[in-house]
Amino acid sequence: MKWEENVRKVTPYTPGEQPKKTSVIKLNTNENPYPPAPGVAKAAAALDVEKLRLYPAFPEQTALAEELAAYYHIGTDRLFIGVGSDDVLSMAFLTFFDSGKPILFPDITYSFYDVWADVYRIPYERKALDADFQIRAADYKQPNGGVVFPNPNAPTGVRMPLSQVEEIVAANRDVVVIVDEAYIDFGGTSALPLIDKYDNLLVVQTFSKSRNMAGMRIGYAMGQPKLIRYLNDVKYSVNSYTMNTAALELGVAAVRDEAYFKECCQKIMNTRATAEERLSRLGFTFPKSYANFIFASHKTVPAREIFDRLKENDIYVRWWNKARIDNYLRITIGTDEQMEALYRALNQICG
Ligand code: PMP
Repeated sequence: MKWEENVRKVTPYTPGEQPKKTSVIKLNTNENPYPPAPGVAKAAAALDVEKLRLYPAFPEQTALAEELAAYYHIGTDRLFIGVGSDDVLSMAFLTFFDSGKPILFPDITYSFYDVWADVYRIPYERKALDADFQIRAADYKQPNGGVVFPNPNAPTGVRMPLSQVEEIVAANRDVVVIVDEAYIDFGGTSALPLIDKYDNLLVVQTFSKSRNMAGMRIGYAMGQPKLIRYLNDVKYSVNSYTMNTAALELGVAAVRDEAYFKECCQKIMNTRATAEERLSRLGFTFPKSYANFIFASHKTVPAREIFDRLKENDIYVRWWNKARIDNYLRITIGTDEQMEALYRALNQICG
């Protein structure tokens, strides 16, 4: 078929499985195991359905923008809100990575980066993590068209000290550096305080992990007003109404309840500490994680086999058939009960 020659061909990103069965223990997509803040349910019940007749408000003019700006002590002109951080990151790639020079990101990292680069025809170069899965700042000092990395990194959970993040941002003043902080609230140090100093820094965060709202699809970027304006120009050239009315209203309640947010993050960090101990005893090794997952490899049993056997037991974790990481499993931190079920199954498989 001739028309096929004119198709924009891409290999899409493969998200973790979303099984239909609700009884499974789902430790495969880094969702939060706890429900959204109690205020979110109240806001959902109070949602005025009549309002859905209208197009949604522009995100930057909403109570959600004001709430987030107040929370982070920034002006709303430093904030861009999108449909999960995937939407925010995708818009940022489209906006800022247009030099024709290769952008740089780690070889082991969020596997959406190369997909966006491909779909937008942005050349890229992967920089190898060191043997301990650390990002080497020195690798990001060659001429490039932009830089993007998660901190903490995914799927490793390894964090980068702020001094090194700054070293990369400072070495790349002629391009935009995107720091993807999807997992920052589980023990990392945010680069947000650096946005005043560096006009080339964009910090991206999400409601999907630490704010327990992956299903609502809310993400945001923070940077100097000029960056945000360029980002909005591109976004409004693609789709004006990205955020739906419900997301804009329910998100406010999640930000407002700081105590609940902190409590859930702390619970996950406590469960993670226990998981380190239990998984070590079961024969796993892993880099120290500062995210809501652990990237673990077993000393004798291949990751693929553990992955399959866990699935037979209705426990879902994530495994990639990729060089360097094909003997690792990424295990999301669930509730203590879910983790106990995991240890029991692993004891059978690896014990
Ligand atoms: N960045 C990283 C590093 C992630 O792991 C994820 C989750 N898949 C995202 C961004 C996107 O998350 P969301 O679109 O749900 O905000």
